Amino acid sequence: MDLKALIRDIPDFPKPGIVFRDITTLLRDREGLRYAIETFETKFRDANLTPDYVVGIESRGFLFGPTLAYQFNAGFVPVRKPGKLPAAVHSVEYDLEYGTDKVEMHQDALPQGSNVIIVDDLIATGGTAQATAELINKVGSQLLGFGFIVELTELGGREKLPHVPIITLVQY
Ligand code: AMP
Repeated sequence: MDLKALIRDIPDFPKPGIVFRDITTLLRDREGLRYAIETFETKFRDANLTPDYVVGIESRGFLFGPTLAYQFNAGFVPVRKPGKLPAAVHSVEYDLEYGTDKVEMHQDALPQGSNVIIVDDLIATGGTAQATAELINKVGSQLLGFGFIVELTELGGREKLPHVPIITLVQY
Protein backbone atom coordinates (compact mmCIF):
# COMPACT_ATOMS: atom_id res chain seq x y z
CA MET A 1 0.00 0.00 0.00
CA ASP A 2 1.19 3.50 -0.84
CA LEU A 3 1.17 5.10 2.61
CA LYS A 4 2.84 8.25 1.29
CA ALA A 5 -0.28 8.94 -0.75
CA LEU A 6 -2.28 8.96 2.50
CA ILE A 7 0.07 11.33 4.36
CA ARG A 8 -0.69 14.99 3.77
CA ASP A 9 2.10 17.54 3.34
CA ILE A 10 1.45 20.97 4.83
CA PRO A 11 4.12 23.49 3.78
CA ASP A 12 5.24 26.15 6.27
CA PHE A 13 3.59 24.58 9.33
CA PRO A 14 4.15 25.24 12.22
CA LYS A 15 6.67 27.75 10.88
CA PRO A 16 8.10 28.88 7.52
CA GLY A 17 10.40 26.32 5.87
CA ILE A 18 8.97 23.23 7.65
CA VAL A 19 6.95 20.70 5.66
CA PHE A 20 4.61 19.15 8.20
CA ARG A 21 3.86 15.47 7.50
CA ASP A 22 0.26 15.09 8.63
CA ILE A 23 -0.66 11.51 9.54
CA THR A 24 -4.30 12.29 10.43
CA THR A 25 -5.23 11.63 6.79
CA LEU A 26 -3.62 8.18 7.05
CA LEU A 27 -5.31 7.37 10.36
CA ARG A 28 -8.77 8.29 9.09
CA ASP A 29 -8.39 5.92 6.12
CA ARG A 30 -9.65 2.56 7.35
CA GLU A 31 -7.38 0.51 5.09
CA GLY A 32 -4.39 2.75 5.76
CA LEU A 33 -4.84 2.50 9.52
CA ARG A 34 -5.16 -1.29 9.42
CA TYR A 35 -2.17 -1.61 7.10
CA ALA A 36 0.04 0.63 9.26
CA ILE A 37 -0.79 -1.20 12.51
CA GLU A 38 -0.48 -4.67 10.95
CA THR A 39 2.81 -3.78 9.26
CA PHE A 40 4.31 -2.62 12.55
CA GLU A 41 3.11 -5.78 14.22
CA THR A 42 4.46 -8.06 11.51
CA LYS A 43 7.84 -6.34 11.38
CA PHE A 44 8.32 -6.50 15.14
CA ARG A 45 7.16 -10.12 15.29
CA ASP A 46 9.47 -11.05 12.37
CA ALA A 47 12.35 -9.65 14.44
CA ASN A 48 11.14 -11.79 17.39
CA LEU A 49 10.23 -8.70 19.39
CA THR A 50 7.10 -8.94 21.53
CA PRO A 51 6.55 -6.06 23.95
CA ASP A 52 4.88 -6.12 27.35
CA TYR A 53 4.31 -2.37 26.91
CA VAL A 54 4.09 0.08 24.04
CA VAL A 55 5.36 3.51 25.11
CA GLY A 56 3.86 6.36 23.05
CA ILE A 57 5.39 9.83 22.83
CA GLU A 58 3.11 12.89 23.18
CA SER A 59 1.14 13.63 21.31
CA ARG A 60 0.89 11.79 18.03
CA GLY A 61 2.37 8.62 19.50
CA PHE A 62 -0.91 8.49 21.43
CA LEU A 63 -2.94 8.29 18.23
CA PHE A 64 -1.88 4.78 17.26
CA GLY A 65 0.26 3.45 20.15
CA PRO A 66 -2.70 2.01 22.09
CA THR A 67 -3.97 0.25 18.95
CA LEU A 68 -0.58 -1.37 18.44
CA ALA A 69 -0.44 -2.30 22.14
CA TYR A 70 -3.86 -3.96 21.77
CA GLN A 71 -2.59 -6.04 18.85
CA PHE A 72 0.28 -7.31 20.99
CA ASN A 73 -1.92 -7.87 24.04
CA ALA A 74 0.43 -5.36 25.69
CA GLY A 75 -0.21 -2.31 27.87
CA PHE A 76 0.17 1.31 26.77
CA VAL A 77 2.24 3.91 28.63
CA PRO A 78 2.28 7.63 27.72
CA VAL A 79 5.43 9.75 27.76
CA ARG A 80 4.40 13.38 28.12
CA LYS A 81 5.64 16.94 28.02
CA PRO A 82 6.49 18.49 31.42
CA GLY A 83 3.78 19.06 34.00
CA LYS A 84 1.05 16.91 32.41
CA LEU A 85 1.33 13.66 34.37
CA PRO A 86 -0.32 13.74 37.82
CA ALA A 87 1.74 11.22 39.83
CA ALA A 88 5.50 11.16 40.58
CA VAL A 89 7.56 11.26 37.37
CA HIS A 90 11.02 10.66 35.99
CA SER A 91 12.22 13.41 33.60
CA VAL A 92 14.85 13.59 30.90
CA GLU A 93 15.91 16.90 29.37
CA TYR A 94 17.11 17.10 25.76
CA ASP A 95 18.42 19.75 23.39
CA LEU A 96 16.38 21.46 20.71
CA GLU A 97 17.69 23.68 17.91
CA TYR A 98 17.09 26.59 20.29
CA GLY A 99 16.89 25.71 23.98
CA THR A 100 15.84 22.49 25.65
CA ASP A 101 12.74 20.39 26.21
CA LYS A 102 11.77 17.59 28.56
CA VAL A 103 9.91 14.30 28.49
CA GLU A 104 8.30 12.70 31.53
CA MET A 105 6.95 9.28 32.50
CA HIS A 106 5.27 8.07 35.68
CA GLN A 107 7.84 6.45 37.95
CA ASP A 108 5.63 3.40 38.47
CA ALA A 109 4.50 3.04 34.85
CA LEU A 110 6.81 0.18 33.88
CA PRO A 111 7.69 -2.84 36.02
CA GLN A 112 11.42 -3.45 36.18
CA GLY A 113 12.64 -5.79 33.45
CA SER A 114 9.58 -5.31 31.25
CA ASN A 115 10.02 -5.33 27.47
CA VAL A 116 9.16 -2.08 25.75
CA ILE A 117 8.66 -0.65 22.27
CA ILE A 118 8.68 3.14 21.78
CA VAL A 119 6.41 4.66 19.11
CA ASP A 120 5.85 8.10 17.63
CA ASP A 121 4.41 9.41 14.38
CA LEU A 122 7.71 10.72 13.06
CA ILE A 123 11.45 10.76 13.70
CA ALA A 124 13.21 13.98 12.73
CA THR A 125 16.44 14.74 14.63
CA GLY A 126 15.79 11.84 17.00
CA GLY A 127 16.13 13.96 20.15
CA THR A 128 12.68 13.17 21.54
CA ALA A 129 13.00 9.43 20.92
CA GLN A 130 16.49 9.34 22.41
CA ALA A 131 15.30 11.09 25.57
CA THR A 132 12.40 8.63 25.80
CA ALA A 133 14.86 5.73 25.53
CA GLU A 134 16.75 7.22 28.49
CA LEU A 135 13.53 7.22 30.50
CA ILE A 136 13.06 3.51 29.77
CA ASN A 137 16.65 2.89 30.82
CA LYS A 138 16.15 4.84 34.03
CA VAL A 139 13.40 2.54 35.27
CA GLY A 140 15.27 -0.66 34.41
CA SER A 141 13.06 -1.74 31.52
CA GLN A 142 14.38 -3.35 28.39
CA LEU A 143 14.04 -1.41 25.13
CA LEU A 144 13.24 -3.83 22.28
CA GLY A 145 12.89 -1.31 19.47
CA PHE A 146 11.31 1.82 17.98
CA GLY A 147 8.43 2.30 15.57
CA PHE A 148 7.80 5.48 13.57
CA ILE A 149 5.32 5.93 10.74
CA VAL A 150 7.54 8.56 9.08
CA GLU A 151 11.33 8.95 9.00
CA LEU A 152 13.00 12.15 7.78
CA THR A 153 16.19 10.41 6.68
CA GLU A 154 18.26 13.51 5.90
CA LEU A 155 18.23 14.52 9.57
CA GLY A 156 19.95 11.27 10.56
CA GLY A 157 17.85 10.81 13.69
CA ARG A 158 18.34 7.04 13.82
CA GLU A 159 22.10 7.51 14.38
CA LYS A 160 21.28 9.04 17.77
CA LEU A 161 19.25 6.09 18.99
CA PRO A 162 20.42 3.01 20.90
CA HIS A 163 21.29 -0.05 18.80
CA VAL A 164 17.91 -1.77 18.66
CA PRO A 165 15.68 -2.32 15.62
CA ILE A 166 14.06 0.87 14.26
CA ILE A 167 10.96 0.20 12.15
CA THR A 168 9.78 3.05 9.91
CA LEU A 169 6.99 2.72 7.36
CA VAL A 170 7.62 5.74 5.10
CA GLN A 171 10.84 7.64 4.40
CA TYR A 172 11.32 11.18 3.05
P1 AMP B 1 12.73 15.03 16.79
O1 AMP B 1 12.91 15.03 18.29
O2 AMP B 1 13.52 16.10 16.11
O3 AMP B 1 12.96 13.66 16.19
O4 AMP B 1 11.24 15.46 16.53
C1 AMP B 1 10.24 14.53 16.56
C2 AMP B 1 8.92 15.12 17.01
O5 AMP B 1 8.61 16.33 16.33
C3 AMP B 1 7.82 14.14 16.70
O6 AMP B 1 7.01 14.02 17.85
C4 AMP B 1 7.08 14.72 15.53
O7 AMP B 1 5.71 14.58 15.74
C5 AMP B 1 7.49 16.19 15.47
N1 AMP B 1 7.93 16.61 14.12
C6 AMP B 1 9.18 17.05 13.79
N2 AMP B 1 9.26 17.38 12.49
C7 AMP B 1 8.02 17.15 11.95
C8 AMP B 1 7.44 17.27 10.63
N3 AMP B 1 8.15 17.72 9.57
N4 AMP B 1 6.16 16.91 10.48
C9 AMP B 1 5.42 16.45 11.51
N5 AMP B 1 5.90 16.31 12.76
C10 AMP B 1 7.17 16.66 13.00
